[in-house]
Amino acid sequence: MVTEHLAENSKYKLTPKGQQFVSTPTRDSNGRVSANYFKKLILIFIIQRGSYRPSTFKDYVKSLGILIDADFESMTTRQYVEWKHNIDIAKDQLEKQQRLLIKTPDGSFTIPIERYAEVLHQVSTLIETAPFQAAPVAIEEQEYPAGKINTVITRRIRDTALSNAVKTQRNYECQVCGVKLPMGNTWYAEVHHLKPLGHDGPDIEANMLVLCPNHHVLFDYGAIAVHPENTNTVIDGCGKIIANLKPPLPRKDYIQFHHAKIFQKL
Ligand SMILES: [Zn+2]
Repeated sequence: MVTEHLAENSKYKLTPKGQQFVSTPTRDSNGRVSANYFKKLILIFIIQRGSYRPSTFKDYVKSLGILIDADFESMTTRQYVEWKHNIDIAKDQLEKQQRLLIKTPDGSFTIPIERYAEVLHQVSTLIETAPFQAAPVAIEEQEYPAGKINTVITRRIRDTALSNAVKTQRNYECQVCGVKLPMGNTWYAEVHHLKPLGHDGPDIEANMLVLCPNHHVLFDYGAIAVHPENTNTVIDGCGKIIANLKPPLPRKDYIQFHHAKIFQKL
């Protein structure tokens, strides 16, 4: 469910050229879909969905309807492995030779931040940024006994390849309190945009903070802010410094936007 939700609301859409690329794969001399095709497809997949996981990618490839009968014809396990072989080659080349993939703590793969702009450029004719839509939210409703209020908690679940890369690079630690929240065999962190996407804030690293859920809520509701002048301390509603902000620090104009328009305003 969540995966579908993310896909539907992806910020990146295929261009007509991208649709053509995806629907007409190149094939190697054995007739198998080529590794080069899969390399680009994996990068597009990550940009659209946030991360790469072999099992979900395999399902995605099947859903594209690009495989011809020969790909499946009396497909034995060995033939299937051969066919999938080119996906594995593509993934290995991206990861080990080109270093365009890094493993995230939950075992999926994403694009390293420092290579992100380059990858976007590589696929720039195949995908385009869709106009911003209201941030998808998961709504958890909690009903209280009759006569009491209904509380609706909304939480952004949108996640991009870039925010995954930023979380990975910053080690999933809250930049305010340093908490690294264990979740199963991975960690959980959230990305806050100081200038919100809904206010035309850009989805770029310089506009992001990696936060634990508690500090994310406090930033969202304007209860705390980054100091707009020194930019490396976090202040509460009384202007009192409650923490030093762990680097890397966001860009000053985004800090100032949050301070001027959101801090103490909601
Ligand atoms: Zn925190």
